[in-house]
Amino acid sequence: MKIKFNIHTKSSDLLLKWFDKQSDIILKEILEQPGTQIMAGIVENTLSQNELPTFFNELKNFSADDSSKSDPYGLKLAWFQRDESSLLLDKIKEYNFSSEITDRIKPYIPTDYPLDVTSNVYFVLTGWEWGDAMACEITKIDNQYKVTEQGESIIIINLSIITKLYGNDIDKLLNDNISNTMSHELFHLVFAEYRKVSSYWKNNRNTTEIEQLVEIIQNEGIAHYLSHNQKQNLIENYNKTNELKEHEKEAFKQLDIAVKQLLNPELSKQEKDNILMKSNAGKYWDKFGGIAGKFMVYHIEKEYGEQAIQQSLSKGAYYFLELYNKLRIEKPILPGLPEELKKQ
Ligand SMILES: [Zn+2]
Repeated sequence: MKIKFNIHTKSSDLLLKWFDKQSDIILKEILEQPGTQIMAGIVENTLSQNELPTFFNELKNFSADDSSKSDPYGLKLAWFQRDESSLLLDKIKEYNFSSEITDRIKPYIPTDYPLDVTSNVYFVLTGWEWGDAMACEITKIDNQYKVTEQGESIIIINLSIITKLYGNDIDKLLNDNISNTMSHELFHLVFAEYRKVSSYWKNNRNTTEIEQLVEIIQNEGIAHYLSHNQKQNLIENYNKTNELKEHEKEAFKQLDIAVKQLLNPELSKQEKDNILMKSNAGKYWDKFGGIAGKFMVYHIEKEYGEQAIQQSLSKGAYYFLELYNKLRIEKPILPGLPEELKKQ
């Protein structure tokens, strides 16, 4: 597997320039940047469309000290974090995004299809509210970058959220927080590329809400496990105190509630989409899909090795659940999965 990164910072450079001097020429350039267009597309997809102002209008009407207005694109946050972002951007431009990022994910990627991945990484200063980064698919339509179901897989990282969440030690931000965040998103990206060529995934499309939840558990579970030192943390601390076990129990409980809601015919499509979003967005321990999955990966890997997780990528999300169910017969003390998650 070969992985190459292309780093894009232009939309951020221009926004910082615009914060200094709000000229229409710079504004126009900002809106032409792929990073800006992808960021705005993500916000449009996650917020309800009818009340959402365009990013152009937000820039036009921007005022840093107007606290009465909502801030759907996080423009105010970008303003407050602009000095840290500027320092960080300078370092990013000379940083060698090295093997460390790819080494974390390599053991988990199946080798039955050789992958040669070039990953465009967009560093932006505005965007969604939760999570510092995401992987998504984009398509260029009429000279505009759109976020689409199928397209080119990319990574987009919001530096304002990074500096807000993790402080201003630039070296730590790069070598630790951003490096780990990129491993997390790179896993999603490479897995998405693998799914495009794997015959299993081409023939098995998961379309129901329950099936989508099962995919989130596997995909997010592994991504959460292999980034931000979680693997090490679980190995060292899972049995030391009850804290991690409590989080585990809670995530499985929320998962159980979510499964019943997703199967409830009285809930609307909108409500179910919301549940799916919550399974993987919000505060760290509240992302019950990703968190339950992370604990499952830990137990599966401990018992059957990294190889088992890797195999689950080529055999599908239900296979991943089967591994856990099998393991749980031997260790009934672990929380169980809802019955409804067994493939019909
Ligand atoms: Zn993720």
